[in-house]
Amino acid sequence: MWKRIGDGSQVSIWKDRWIMGSRTGTVTTSCSPNCQIQTLNQLIKDGRWNAEIINQILNSEDSVKIISMPLSCFRRKDRFFWNFSKSGQYTVKTGYANVMQEKSNGMRRERIGEETSWEIRKHSIWKRLWKLNLKHKPKLFIWRSLQNSLATKETIYSRTGEGDRICNGCGEEVETMKHMFFQCLIAQTVWKVAPVRWEGLNDLQNNLWRWWEAVSRTEKMEKGKERISLTANILWQIWKSRNKAQFENEKGEARNIIGKAQQEWIEYEEVTGRASKEMEGEVGSDQHRKVSEPPKEGIIRIHTDAAISAKLIRTGKGIIARHWTGEIMRARGVMEMKMGEALMEESLTIRMALQMARQAGWGKIEVISDCKTAVDMIANNNVQECHIVTILKDIEDLIKGFDFCTVSFVPRSANVGSHRLAQFATKLVNDIDWENNFPTWLIEAANKDWRVEATFCNETLVVSS
Ligand SMILES: [Zn+2]
Repeated sequence: MWKRIGDGSQVSIWKDRWIMGSRTGTVTTSCSPNCQIQTLNQLIKDGRWNAEIINQILNSEDSVKIISMPLSCFRRKDRFFWNFSKSGQYTVKTGYANVMQEKSNGMRRERIGEETSWEIRKHSIWKRLWKLNLKHKPKLFIWRSLQNSLATKETIYSRTGEGDRICNGCGEEVETMKHMFFQCLIAQTVWKVAPVRWEGLNDLQNNLWRWWEAVSRTEKMEKGKERISLTANILWQIWKSRNKAQFENEKGEARNIIGKAQQEWIEYEEVTGRASKEMEGEVGSDQHRKVSEPPKEGIIRIHTDAAISAKLIRTGKGIIARHWTGEIMRARGVMEMKMGEALMEESLTIRMALQMARQAGWGKIEVISDCKTAVDMIANNNVQECHIVTILKDIEDLIKGFDFCTVSFVPRSANVGSHRLAQFATKLVNDIDWENNFPTWLIEAANKDWRVEATFCNETLVVSS
């Protein structure tokens, strides 16, 4: 017998079979003799997994599996069931294993690289840098840093003998590039909250060339170029923030630095990404593209989508609610630090949309998803016992709370807005919840889903109505 988690009070962490995606269903960690934590509800806090405690008492294999298991948003009783479905298998472990494999390949390549001549290496770094999806400024900035020509206080002092060498940020250490980019307190915080991490390269921080060379060698990895571009933007923003502190006496903040770096990168990607996609003929197929008709009066349409970034081990959810006249009412982007599984994440996004609508007090809604399997499962309600049942049951209960509520499928080409938002969300540091001012790229993307552009892309029209 297996146990499906409700509130967790009836499930023993150590003895019961409750872990989805493992053959036996039991934890692989052994219980320490004096462990006070016995039942599963002790691992749940405010309806979410308490990752801190889980990581403390369970090994990482168990922790990864547990944190990926969905919890119900309602208080339910724990239930028993027979596990005869083979489909409830997790992709988390394999995904993680792939990432680790790629990582060690990267390291191996790096060692081989050391034997190549300096000139060739220099040329190839430049070529790679030039090909990155980056604005000119950060590109040139990186190149300048690599040439050792940044005017850090240490550099100025050693060349001119003027000024002092102490970093303004912390007031303690000599301001070298290594200090500014990696070791000063603010830089350390930046790398802690950044969506890209290069802890494996800490030994190379003394020599920015070698560090950057190792970073840029990861470009063939999944999302490699994006991670490298983001890294370049982070270095650049650290420098800009340092200059503000130096010349305008404005104290830098790690979150701002990350936020600006992401913004730069995302905006640039939005522009260039769209351009290249359109060249691939997405526009050419315009006449085949299905665009939804607007909903009936009084109904709010909510588009949902989920995106999974294997490389960043992040999952993004995008939800866009639109008034029947076409106006965007609300957009929500949520990021989670986990390797999601598509069907699960799509279902979770639908659940989140329903919760959002309920909180907003909307009575009549249409929820849209481009995941046909999820929509079919919700419609037919005949799913075998597996991890997704918890979510489907929540969705079923939530739907009952509306005067009118449908969940329907559209192809991705008619779900562009939330698709873009979900991708955007994988790169977020904080969740976003827009209620009146929406970014232009979002409005433009959402307009592709719906043939009512003229009524709301013109601001004066909306205002005068
Ligand atoms: Zn400092």
